[in-house]
Amino acid sequence: MELVNYEAGKPIELVVREFGIKAKDVIKLASNENPFGTSPKAVKAIKSVAANAFLYPDDSYFELKNALATKFSVGATNIIIGAGSDQVIEFCLHAKANSKNAVLMAGVTFAMYEIYAKQTGAKIYRTKSQEHDLTEFLEIYKKHKDEISVIFLCLPNNPLGECPDAKEVYKFLTKIDKNVLVVLDCAYNEFAKFKDAEKAIEPSEILKFKNTIYLGTFSKAYGLGGMRVGYGIADEDIINELGKLRAPFNITTLSLKAAIEALKDDEFVQKTLENNLREMIRYEEFARERSIEFIPSYTNFITFKLGNTNASEIVQNMLKKGIILRDLKSYNLNAFRITVGQPWQNDMVFEELKQNLK
Ligand SMILES: *Cc1c(COP(=O)(O)O)cnc(C)c1O
Repeated sequence: MELVNYEAGKPIELVVREFGIKAKDVIKLASNENPFGTSPKAVKAIKSVAANAFLYPDDSYFELKNALATKFSVGATNIIIGAGSDQVIEFCLHAKANSKNAVLMAGVTFAMYEIYAKQTGAKIYRTKSQEHDLTEFLEIYKKHKDEISVIFLCLPNNPLGECPDAKEVYKFLTKIDKNVLVVLDCAYNEFAKFKDAEKAIEPSEILKFKNTIYLGTFSKAYGLGGMRVGYGIADEDIINELGKLRAPFNITTLSLKAAIEALKDDEFVQKTLENNLREMIRYEEFARERSIEFIPSYTNFITFKLGNTNASEIVQNMLKKGIILRDLKSYNLNAFRITVGQPWQNDMVFEELKQNLK
C-alpha cells in the first residue's frame, strides 16, 4: 500500500484525445525516445518476421546474445536479456533485496529502483546530494554495511543528466564488498561516451568486479522503446541466478529480430548521437540566455530547474500546444525534462517555451 505507480511520460494518444491535435502534429519529447524513430533496417526486419508472431522466440536469444557479446568483448554467458532493462532491474532487486536489508541510490534518480525495491520490502537509503556523489555513497555504505545489499548508480543519471567519470566509478567498485550487488544502469551511456570518453563504462571492465552488473537498453539510442528489449552484463554466476527469475519468452519474436537488426545499424545510431550533441548545445544556450538552471547533460535529455516559475504549469501549457515534455513533480522537483529532438522539433519547443517564460 505504500507503493506508488511509476508516472510514465504522457502518450501521443492522450494529446489527440484531450486537445484534438492530429497525431502527426504532436511532438513527443517526454520519454527520451529516439527522435529519428526506429532504424529503417529494424522496421524492415520487424515486418519480415511479422507472420512468425504465432511462434515463441528462440528462448536462448542465441543470436542477440552473441551479437552483444561481440560488440562488448564479453561472453554470451555473461548476458541476460530483459523486456527492457527495467525488467533486469526488477530481477536484480528481487534476487538481492528483502525486508531485512536495504538499497542505496542517489538523492534524485530513476524512480523504478525505489518502486521495485519497495516491492521486496527493502529499506531505501538515498544520498542527500541529488546528483551522484560517490564519496557520500561510500559514507552511507560504510555506515550501513550490514544492511545494504544493492547499490544503484545511474550512469548518466535520469532525470538529472549528470555522470561521474568512469575512473571514479571503477575506484568506487573496488571499495564495495562482494556480497553487495552494484547495478550500473547505463541506459544513456552511448550518449555519454560520445560526448566525453571519460564517461564510458565498459562492460568488459565491469566483469573484473564479480558483484557488478552493467545494464543497457535498446530503448534510447537504438530507437526501440516500443519493442521492450534491454540487457544485463555480469559475471556468469550473477547471470545464472538472475536467470532463475526470468519467465520464458520474456521478449517477443518481433522484439528479438528488431534488436538484432538495430544493433547492426551503426549509421542510424551515429546520426542519433551527432544530432543529440549538436542540438544539446542549443538547449544549453537557450537556458543560459534566460538564466534557467540546468545540469550539463550526458544523455539525450536536458532538465530545466525553475525557480519561481511553476514547472508543471508550463508543461501543461506546452501539452495544449501538442508538445509533450516530462514534468518532474513526481521527483519532488520544480523542473521539467526535455528529450532532445530533431532540429525542427527543438525549434518548436523554443518558440513555445519563450511564450511561457515571458
Ligand atoms: C529508459 C531507462 C531505462 C530502461 O528502459 P527500458 O525501456 O526498460 O529498457 C532504464 N534506466 C533508466 C535510467 C532509463 O532512463
